[in-house]
Amino acid sequence: MNLFYTQGDYGLLQCARNCFGETYGNERQVREMVGRQKDQRVPSELVPRCPHCGAPMVPNLRVGGTFCEDRGWHEAASRYRAFCEAHSGDRVLYLELGVGDNTPVIIKYLFWNAVGRNGHATYACVNIGGACAPTTIAGRSILVDDDIDELIQNV
Ligand SMILES: [Zn+2]
Repeated sequence: MNLFYTQGDYGLLQCARNCFGETYGNERQVREMVGRQKDQRVPSELVPRCPHCGAPMVPNLRVGGTFCEDRGWHEAASRYRAFCEAHSGDRVLYLELGVGDNTPVIIKYLFWNAVGRNGHATYACVNIGGACAPTTIAGRSILVDDDIDELIQNV
């Protein structure tokens, strides 16, 4: 499966300062922290540090101005752009599950614009209290104001 983790990946760590532009898988560290945590605290020596600058390592999530778009992110972005271009006039379902309002320009608005440009595309959104679409694509939008987990369990 090809995924584009445009907003980041909880399975990766990056330098809090993004001093070197790379990420690392964190499964081993997370499993060790889970195994040795007490009262939701881990021993200080388990807190990962950047091998280059010594800053804490943090989950690779788009927060603040230090998000690390590593080589894998750029490769996925290229694949995603190529897919969108290759299918810009095809029947495409833009399925949005639980996207919040913090960074709508990253996913939501791009989906709305893509559906607006392609008369064969459909926009579907599942989100408690956040399922909406502009009137320009209302006729090709499926909006479900419901819990994603419950919805999938009932499909
Ligand atoms: Zn660093």
